[in-house]
Amino acid sequence: MSGTADAGGRPLVIAVDGPAAAGKGTLARRLARHLGLAHLDTGRLYRAVALKLIAAGGGAADEATAARAAAGLVAEDLEDPRLREEEVGQLASRVAAMPGVRAALLAFQRRFAAAPPGGARGAVLDGRDIGTAVCPDAAFKFFVTASLEARAGRRLKELAEGGASADRGAVLADMAKRDRRDEARAHAPLKPAEDAIVLDTTELDADAVFARVLALVEGRGGAGPRRPRGA
Ligand code: C5P
Repeated sequence: MSGTADAGGRPLVIAVDGPAAAGKGTLARRLARHLGLAHLDTGRLYRAVALKLIAAGGGAADEATAARAAAGLVAEDLEDPRLREEEVGQLASRVAAMPGVRAALLAFQRRFAAAPPGGARGAVLDGRDIGTAVCPDAAFKFFVTASLEARAGRRLKELAEGGASADRGAVLADMAKRDRRDEARAHAPLKPAEDAIVLDTTELDADAVFARVLALVEGRGGAGPRRPRGA
């Protein structure tokens, strides 16, 4: 399959999954821009639910409030600058373990993939469970990962660029905690789909990752450990 909608006219869907700060967001944005596809950073959905939960004064165990917030989410909720805060990320990974929240957000994500906004011919979705649960029939599935040290280093650099100071040990510990929670949850845990191409970006920069993935999507070879579905 090449980088177009399939013969049945269904949108081209590319799934990019992986743990925090592995480079999946950068890759997904670049792929979408280059291929003229819509892009959804699905982590923002869980972060937006967490933010609504904080605003409602709800705690990490308040599933009813979180599920209501997830069901009522609108596109504007994804633009709040506070979504990137670490506290919001931590609470996001807790609401992400709630089945009611995941079910509500599943519908949002599937609508986006089936009818990409702006009339785009397809969509790139990045997250934790796109290839396994949200879009199991995606034309291409990539699982982007890197060592915990490399990911923490990238997060620290990001924070420094944004003018925030952070302690390396604290960033490492928070990231490890979030990884464990995402991997251990019962519903749609973080793991590569069986037919995903796994990319370890520990030693790769963003340009190298993008070039490799684009070559695969455009059918220029450089095969990874597994073949993408439908390729
Ligand atoms: O990617 P990001 O750090 O913004 O994601 C925040 C949290 O949302 C993750 O730690 C994870 O628990 C949750 N998430 C998820 N499924 C997705 C995307 C994010 O469970 N598809």
